[in-house]
Amino acid sequence: MKISERLKKVPPYLFVELDRLKNEKKEQGVDVIDLGIGDPDIPTPSEIVEVAKKALEKKEYHRYPSNLGSLFFRKAVADYMKKRFGVIFDPEKEILALIGSKEGIAHFPIGFVNPGDVVLCPDPAYPVYYLGTIFADGIPYYMPLTWENEFLPDLGKIPQEILEKAKIIWLNYPNNPTGAVAKKDFFKEVIKFAKKYNIIVAHDAAYIEMYYEEPPISIFEIDGAKDVAIEFHSLSKTFCMTGWRIGFAVGNSFLVSTLAKVKSNIDSGVFTAIQEAGAYALNNLENIVPSLIKVFKKRRDLVSLELEKLGYQFIKPSATFYLWVKTPKGFSSQEFCKKVLQDVGVVITPGAGFGKAGEGYFRIALTVEEERLKEAIQRFSILQL
Ligand SMILES: *Cc1c(COP(=O)(O)O)cnc(C)c1O
Repeated sequence: MKISERLKKVPPYLFVELDRLKNEKKEQGVDVIDLGIGDPDIPTPSEIVEVAKKALEKKEYHRYPSNLGSLFFRKAVADYMKKRFGVIFDPEKEILALIGSKEGIAHFPIGFVNPGDVVLCPDPAYPVYYLGTIFADGIPYYMPLTWENEFLPDLGKIPQEILEKAKIIWLNYPNNPTGAVAKKDFFKEVIKFAKKYNIIVAHDAAYIEMYYEEPPISIFEIDGAKDVAIEFHSLSKTFCMTGWRIGFAVGNSFLVSTLAKVKSNIDSGVFTAIQEAGAYALNNLENIVPSLIKVFKKRRDLVSLELEKLGYQFIKPSATFYLWVKTPKGFSSQEFCKKVLQDVGVVITPGAGFGKAGEGYFRIALTVEEERLKEAIQRFSILQL
């Protein structure tokens, strides 16, 4: 048996050695603190769980769900998009429920990419943009996100011949792993660029509600965005619901309906009871989210302050639960992360794992309790560099 050429193109998993070392340390009885995981440690707020429990009893929900998502869920999404961003979406044509946003992001290129077409992917990034591209037989073109350019891609640097073959540009703000947030001017430039070169804009907004200062904007706050864009949202990080698998896509009706067509031939939608919990969460966002944000903000402030004291270089993130920190001089990101785990039992993620341009950085996820974060920082302070 042989795996496909397509699957062979998936790059090797860079965290193999770190995972092995982590397990080895645990077996040795080391109290490992894991700051590697992009998954909130806080349980889903109980009021959301209660809605789901009741919904489980509804016998009509035990049958196949609607492919596009129940209308009540899509209406909750439309209300949220209007209230939060001031943009009107038609729940029937411009909104689609997803089995988590990862699912939509991975499937989207299937609808638009032909063999040999190029997809513009940020680097460093969440890997699903280029993986979905590879699975659609497209070719990823990596746009480096650099400190100097505030972790935004420099669109002017993309070669003309790439632009001619490009079908989709992926963006993700607030950004994982850099914590960067994009402003209106950048999105304006993107929309203009996309129209000029006839490229679809696919924006991953998974962290749009996880912010500590100014609310990050939706790409649809830009005039004309609906002509060329689709945006992927997730309930996972916003409501600490990663295990539930629910998200949604909003945007241009042709883009949304094409993704729906792809999906209807692969999956059968989101369990309706989960959509009911999701709709409840979206409808009550202002009551639910602030107390969750408060927890992460405290952690962000604590770790930022202490890391700064220790002389680490990073930009304090105004959104996401990640810190993107420069590795000390003389270490590659892999070497440094290995050393931190080896010497003091703290797991952090090497930047190179998110792409070539991630080299020289490591990522800290604020997904453990404050006391553990304090302990982790204490351990950082005794590192011999
Ligand atoms: C967590 C994450 C997602 C996926 O979330 P789902 O649980 O699939 O909704 C998407 N994009 C980024 C950048 C993420 O970090």
